[in-house]
Amino acid sequence: MNALARLCERKSAEPYFISLERQYGAHNYEPVPVILVKGRGAYLWDEGGRRYIDMMGAYSAVSHGHAHPRILAALQAQASELAVTSRAYYNNRLPLFLKRLCEITGQERALPANTGLEAVETALKAARKWGAKIKGIPAERAEIIACHGNFHGRSIAILAMSTETQYRDGFGPFPPGFRIVPYGDAQALEDAITEHTAAFLVEPIQGEAGIVVPPQGYLAQCARICRERNVLLICDEVQTGLGRTGRMFACEHEDVRPDGIILGKALGGGVLPVSAFVARDQVMRVFTPGDHGSTFGGNPLAAAVGLEALAVLIEERLPQRAAELGEYALARLRESPLPLVREVRGKGLLIGLDIDPRLATGRAVCDRLRAHGVLTKDTHETVVRLAPPLVITRDTLDRALKAIRIALAEVADEAARRTSHS
Ligand code: PMP
Repeated sequence: MNALARLCERKSAEPYFISLERQYGAHNYEPVPVILVKGRGAYLWDEGGRRYIDMMGAYSAVSHGHAHPRILAALQAQASELAVTSRAYYNNRLPLFLKRLCEITGQERALPANTGLEAVETALKAARKWGAKIKGIPAERAEIIACHGNFHGRSIAILAMSTETQYRDGFGPFPPGFRIVPYGDAQALEDAITEHTAAFLVEPIQGEAGIVVPPQGYLAQCARICRERNVLLICDEVQTGLGRTGRMFACEHEDVRPDGIILGKALGGGVLPVSAFVARDQVMRVFTPGDHGSTFGGNPLAAAVGLEALAVLIEERLPQRAAELGEYALARLRESPLPLVREVRGKGLLIGLDIDPRLATGRAVCDRLRAHGVLTKDTHETVVRLAPPLVITRDTLDRALKAIRIALAEVADEAARRTSHS
């Protein structure tokens, strides 16, 4: 090969779409270097035609699998009829979606939005106004308690609750009115409540923190404390909701009915951003016309897709699938020690492998998994997240689990070789 050819080869070493994104995009992500062009069910394909098992499910947004035929049909039918009107008018899809959301959650009213963080912001506003207007907290003094390690999104108000230095660095000042308690410690919640506390906001399992499962009984104890102290319990089920953990909502594991539930991700059936805050009448009634809204929230297209997403979840028994396959996967992962792994934790098909940071990074394991045809991403550097579409078959899951064992063993071998050479 001559010098010019070598130079050209080196220049084109970074694939076209990666270099284009790196040149024109903000560098707020560091994606796995794979260029995806197609998805079906629990599989993804790259531009070279290579097939991968999707063990990430787009951070739990693709619970129905890629390109679910019923969801695509609902999307196409509604898109060609009426897609976006704004809330300036009524439409014939949103009311049906709101009713279904209330029926499924056991709540009384729903407020539609688009992304998870918008629904979280909606919940925060509802809680503050409920505190001021119903509970009688002095104006501008309402407090919301959140948990250490939480992830509720990345708006400035939500970051005011974050305990993650990187998420906050450079983005302050943040609004006041938030208090942080350790996750999994109901006594700490009880001690932190004051007469100014409006709400306790909690993830039933912390997803982005690294699939952190609190002690059994935690949520039920929190619910009791909130009830006794007249504090709203708001569960952020953006990631854990809609079947992911083996029940329709993760709070059902402890028979808890919160005062409000935040939903997103899978509500859009894997094709659209659709989110909602669903709550008791007394909470939601604090909103009056003009208080709060969103141009796209509750549009007919999103409502039609959301309705179909809920119907598919129930008719295909996706929460039950997550329970059965999750139990199976956890048993397989725990049956004998996994190289590099300090802990396997999770519920349903929301599973984390906690990698010993002295031996390897989560990213190194994910890179090796990619070579074995399995895609996922680490969270918080040390945890490998396993959250496949809930439609994954046992056979496909088995192949992914086998690849995980092999990839972990290979990365462990490399780590051992490195230490023996140093
Ligand atoms: N809440 C939780 C529990 C989440 O996991 C996420 C996203 N990972 C969000 C809120 C924010 O959702 P979005 O990215 O759609 O704004």
